[in-house]
Amino acid sequence: MNEQLKNDLGNLEDLLEKVKLQGLDYLNTIKDRKTSTTPSISFQSQLQEIGLGGIDTLKLFNERFENVIVGSAGPRYLGYVVGGVTPAAIIGDWLATVYDQNPQTATAQGDVSIVIEKETIKLLLELFNLPNSFQGGFVTGATMSNFTCLAVARQWIGAQLGKDFAKDGISEKIEILSAVPHSSAIKSLSMLGIGRNNVEIIEVDGENREAINIQHLEQKIIALNGKPFILISSAGTVNTADFDDFKAIAQLKEKYNFWWHIDGAFGAFAACSPHTNHLVEDWEKADSITIDCHKWLNVPYDCAFFMVKKEHQLLQLETFKNSNAPYLGEPSDDFNFLNFLPENSRRLRALPAWFSLTAYGRKGYQDIVDNSVKMANILSEFITSSQHFKLLAPTRLNNVCFTLSNTNDAGEVMRFLTTLNNTGKVFMTPTVFNGLQGIRASFVNWRTDLSDLEIIIREMEKVALSEKSE
Ligand SMILES: *Cc1c(COP(=O)(O)O)cnc(C)c1O
Repeated sequence: MNEQLKNDLGNLEDLLEKVKLQGLDYLNTIKDRKTSTTPSISFQSQLQEIGLGGIDTLKLFNERFENVIVGSAGPRYLGYVVGGVTPAAIIGDWLATVYDQNPQTATAQGDVSIVIEKETIKLLLELFNLPNSFQGGFVTGATMSNFTCLAVARQWIGAQLGKDFAKDGISEKIEILSAVPHSSAIKSLSMLGIGRNNVEIIEVDGENREAINIQHLEQKIIALNGKPFILISSAGTVNTADFDDFKAIAQLKEKYNFWWHIDGAFGAFAACSPHTNHLVEDWEKADSITIDCHKWLNVPYDCAFFMVKKEHQLLQLETFKNSNAPYLGEPSDDFNFLNFLPENSRRLRALPAWFSLTAYGRKGYQDIVDNSVKMANILSEFITSSQHFKLLAPTRLNNVCFTLSNTNDAGEVMRFLTTLNNTGKVFMTPTVFNGLQGIRASFVNWRTDLSDLEIIIREMEKVALSEKSE
């Protein structure tokens, strides 16, 4: 055995203990971590002939990187939609690494990890009050979840037209309708050979809305003259967390022939609370749903899952089957995840979710969701009452979309945001909404509390006043 490997094996306890203490220190001070840094780190591209061994590598990492790691898992990082990590999710994730399993199939590997993955999917279905007519699986993020769902949708379109696209390639135009698809759904269309320009955009349902105008949707459907299509709908748009009217879409689905996909990367969590679950009423009638876990479930990157109705299982198998590999068995003989999703070998990324769901239960997640919504509403009330800011849309769930009240100048808004982010106390990200430069603050971190809101509001006021006096 290589000498450095041998030393590390002998020093395992010391190594893990050091990392445990370092992890504890990070987690205990995460509230004070800067939410942004401007690292000036030079690349050190040389691979050592003789490695440093674990302990010295940890030292080197700490010297070079540790102090510029931002508190993106902390309570005041409100950019994009970025969750934190619950304590139980951390231990689940550590164990996923330690056990290093590859969840595929029960019989071929004699391995329990597939059972853990399936059980976690079942827990998630319960959390979201979804029926077990969905088959789920874990992927790296909502992008890959959208990709997986839309890949099966593509195969469904083929089947409607008497074609097998998975086998023979795409030979027909695939009709896609959507109002405000997430960029990752568009990216998926590009990866799937459907084409990113190939989306018929439906009008939104009025000013400040990002939801589908149902009348316009029906007009577009009628214009398709019976051609099957894919509807990409939203449970939570990134700017304003808007939801399509699922009740109305479910009614359309009874009249017309289409694949209904819901991107609920974070908005799906509205289902976890009786205060917000009306937003997803009737969503269980969809054919496929995307949900992220590394956002509001507060498990570490990278983790999401997809759900596709079991009635489409054959189409899913046609799309993803890993055939021509006799050593992996017959796809139809034995359930194996590698025949139902993009990856073959995979990490046991269900484990952190299993730990967190088991540790905190339904009530734990309801509390997380209710708290995030409350934080968003407090910020939003401050913005409404402040002379410096105004909302660009009503706050419907956990995302606050706002801008400066006394200017329409995009440069000024961006200057404010840069100065705010440079305080290192809070981090938000820009957007453009209704043609105006806006700022988004998204609440999904389980740790955020009133003391954070005080800091956020104080910094926003300070920066607005100082920019004004310049
Ligand atoms: C974040 C997000 C995605 C993409 O998710 P990743 O986890 O970054 O791949 C897709 N859709 C929506 C609505 C999102 O918020």
